[in-house]
Amino acid sequence: MQPFIGMTIKELEVVAQEAGQPAYRGRQIAEWVYRRGAQNIEEMTDLPKEFRARLAESFTVGLPEVAHCDVAPDDTAKYLMRFPDGQTIESVFLPYGERVSVCLSTQIGCAAGCRFCATAIGGLSRNLTAGEIIGQFLRMQSQSSRRISHAVYMGMGEPLWNYDAVIASLRLLGNEIGVSLRNLTVSTVGVVPGIRALAQESIPVTLAISLHAPDDETRERLIPTARKWKIAEILDACAEYVRRTHRDLTFEYLLIGGVNDSPDHARGLVSLLKSRHVPGNVNLIPFNYVSTPQGFRRPERESVQRFREELERGGLVATQRMTRGHAISAACGQLRRTLLSGAKGNGTSPANDLEPIAALERGERIELMARQGAEESR
Ligand code: SF4
Repeated sequence: MQPFIGMTIKELEVVAQEAGQPAYRGRQIAEWVYRRGAQNIEEMTDLPKEFRARLAESFTVGLPEVAHCDVAPDDTAKYLMRFPDGQTIESVFLPYGERVSVCLSTQIGCAAGCRFCATAIGGLSRNLTAGEIIGQFLRMQSQSSRRISHAVYMGMGEPLWNYDAVIASLRLLGNEIGVSLRNLTVSTVGVVPGIRALAQESIPVTLAISLHAPDDETRERLIPTARKWKIAEILDACAEYVRRTHRDLTFEYLLIGGVNDSPDHARGLVSLLKSRHVPGNVNLIPFNYVSTPQGFRRPERESVQRFREELERGGLVATQRMTRGHAISAACGQLRRTLLSGAKGNGTSPANDLEPIAALERGERIELMARQGAEESR
C-alpha cells in the first residue's frame, strides 16, 4: 500500500488522473490528507464511492500509529510513534500559550554518536521518508484541536544526514500543510556539506548548530563525528547560510559539569563567535541526564550563572530558559524501561522494537528549540 502522506498535490493529481478522474480530485485528496485530518480513505466523502474503493486497493492515508503517549500537566505530550515495519520514533507536542510547536524525528536512531545522547546508543537503523517525517506532524495535529504552528527538527536523528527527505518534508510542511517556513527549525551537529546545500535551497528555515564547545578538542570528546568537520569549517558554512537566507542562527551549548562549563570555555566561546562574525544567539542547556557511561554530570548552578554572565559580558546574547515537560521527559526513561521489561505502560500499547529513546536532556533541548522558534516569529 502506498501512503498519500508524503505526496505533493501534483503527484496526487496524477493519482486521480491515472484512475480516470479529473485532476481536481487529487486536490481534494490533498485537502483531506493535509488540511482536514482524514485518517482513512473512506472519510473522504466528497470523492465518488467507486473512486474511493479503487483508491483503497492501492493507497492508504499513511498516518503513523501512536504506540504510546505521555501527557504532562502542562499539556506537553511525548509520543512514541510506530511505522508499518514496526520501527518506532519519538515526537513531542509542545503548546505555548497561543502557539503550538512540535518536535519531529528524522531518522530511526542516529549515527552521530553524541556521548550525551541516548539515541546514539543503538546507532542508525534507517532514514525516515518525507512522509514519515510529516506524518508525525499530522498525527499530532489529529490528536489536538489546536493548530500546530511551528516545528523543530530535533528529535531522533541528524536531519542533514537524511537530506533529501528532510528537504522534501520541509516543502510539504510549507506548501501542502501551510506552515510558515520561518516557523521551522532544523538542528544539526554541523554537517558542513548539508549546511552549504541548505543555504542554496531558498527555504528560509532557522538553523540551529549543536556547538557544545568552543574548541575542537573538547567538542570531539562530546561528538565523535565532529572530527570530520572542524569548528572553523562549520562557522564558515554558517556564514554562507546567513548570507544567503538572511536568517540568524542559534548555537546550542549543552553545559556539562567539569567538561565544558568553565569561565575559560565561556570566554573561548565569546572570542570564537566574535572573531568569526557569525550572528546568532547562544542557548545554554544545563545537562540534566542522571547517568551516562562517561560519567557526565550536571553543572553546578553557579557555573551556569557564571558561564552566562561571561557570554553577556563578551557581548553575546545568551538564553537559558526554564524548561517544561520534566514529568514527561522523566516518563520517557520510564517508557523505555516499560518496553524493555514488557510491562504495561500508561499509553495505548508498548512498541515492539527497542531502539534507544531520547534522554531527559534531549527533552529539554527539544523544548528549548520549540520555544525559541515560537518566540522568533513574534
Ligand atoms: S544529539 Fe542528535 S545528532 Fe547527536 S546522537 Fe543524538 S540524535 Fe544524533
